[in-house]
Amino acid sequence: MNMPLIPGPNGRVHTEAGRTALPAALSADTGAFPRDFAAVYAGRAGVAMSAEGPAWLRVTHDGDLSAEAYRLRVTQGGVDITAADERGLCWALTTLAVLTQENSVPCCEIEDAPRFAWRGFMMDCARHFFPVATVKTMIELMSMVKCNVFHWHLTDDQGWRIESRRFPALHGQNIVADEYYTQEEIREVVESARLRGVEIVPEIDLPGHASAILAAFPDLSCAGKPVKVDSTPGIRRVILCPGKEAVFELLFPLLEEIAALFPSRYIHLGGDEAPKDEWKACPHCRRRVETEGLENFEELQGWFTAQLAVFLRGLGKQAVCWNESLLSRRLPADVPDLTIQYWAEVSKVGPARRFWENGGSMVFSDQFRAYLDLAYGTVTLKKAYNYAPGMLGFKGKGLPAFGLETCLWSEFVSTTEQLAAQAFPRAYAIAEAAWTQPERRDYDDFRRRLDLWLGRFPGIGFYPPDMADPGLIERYKGRIAFLRKQAKALDKENRNNAGLGGKLHWRYLLRWLRNYFF
Ligand SMILES: [Zn+2]
Repeated sequence: MNMPLIPGPNGRVHTEAGRTALPAALSADTGAFPRDFAAVYAGRAGVAMSAEGPAWLRVTHDGDLSAEAYRLRVTQGGVDITAADERGLCWALTTLAVLTQENSVPCCEIEDAPRFAWRGFMMDCARHFFPVATVKTMIELMSMVKCNVFHWHLTDDQGWRIESRRFPALHGQNIVADEYYTQEEIREVVESARLRGVEIVPEIDLPGHASAILAAFPDLSCAGKPVKVDSTPGIRRVILCPGKEAVFELLFPLLEEIAALFPSRYIHLGGDEAPKDEWKACPHCRRRVETEGLENFEELQGWFTAQLAVFLRGLGKQAVCWNESLLSRRLPADVPDLTIQYWAEVSKVGPARRFWENGGSMVFSDQFRAYLDLAYGTVTLKKAYNYAPGMLGFKGKGLPAFGLETCLWSEFVSTTEQLAAQAFPRAYAIAEAAWTQPERRDYDDFRRRLDLWLGRFPGIGFYPPDMADPGLIERYKGRIAFLRKQAKALDKENRNNAGLGGKLHWRYLLRWLRNYFF
């Protein structure tokens, strides 16, 4: 039997002769689980729900199964699903939706469970704004390949995309007035995602990438000069001042408002690309360094993040940060439950490695393997498929990883067509890397299944898979074209800032060049 499942299952797959016909209206006995999940399947299969007749779909709870695991058994008498939790049920129903063709399902038995707990997809709606319908479609497409985290990058130098009822000046700063999500829309997206097994982790980038906050509240930078939201990419030197109490008087109630909107246990606090030039010259920051007994200005960022993370803990939330945050020794010391998202070796190579070796919870999004805004010449489909947890120069063999995540930054992505062509099919390749154990993965087999998948689920479009692994010459052309596009888009100040706060270590530069071009 042709079973074009992506990601490939991790357990027993047994196929039998015969098929069961999908009823015209779906009768389901979901046992201890709510019926809403079955309704999502009915919607995908194109049938209505029915409260009458014997159940065609039967769900049983089994607490002995591991988190998100499921058993799916299809016989001529209907479908039986066993799961320990709601997500296990969601993934069983996703598998069922893929198997459902021409109003029937082949008889089979599948046992399946994920490799990593966090299987993420990041969408940047701050650099360019995307409508709610597009966001929901992305979540549906990623749910079909069993991703369970939608990391929503909502704030940056180019915009603030969350309606704040406490501080409406924030969403009032966007270049185009209506380009933010109302609280009602956010609740709708959160609920739609929940029914698809996906939790939404919002990212509020702090203390850098915060021009949208500073445009609304210019007093919160060190020098307190006016700041504008503008659409150019890059790294801004003017960031939030952790020496000023007023910064926390804004951030604490703001984080409280955001925490109430997103039921996820996690809130991403960013922490990347925060140049320290302004802090070094600021009397408030210098005083803070002194009164808190900090050794330097990297430690000040660690202290700042710890204040926010401890505040979040009081709200029942855990912080996630980009790996630059570990340049301060205050992290994770002051925040033991911190989750780190690894994207790049910044000026020092040691801290992220030590964090991982000491059992820290780490989500991997290496920029050269998991950044989908990069050209196919840099991140080929095959490279994305083979992505495994690890850091530049350190494979971490045997160390457990919390998860994998693909990131789609939108500095150069402004239309649905561009979004689709950058995301797909690479996001599907990494989804399989996140779900399926390495010994069960095979690239040629994935490519065969991918063609069938894209034929059936074209979604919002995709880059042609047969062009997604370009040859050597096209690869170099693509990389150079991308670098030129980037250099052209950066204004002079941002070009100067591009070295991660002017502290670009030569070893980092060498590694960057090696990974970018090889
Ligand atoms: Zn300051």
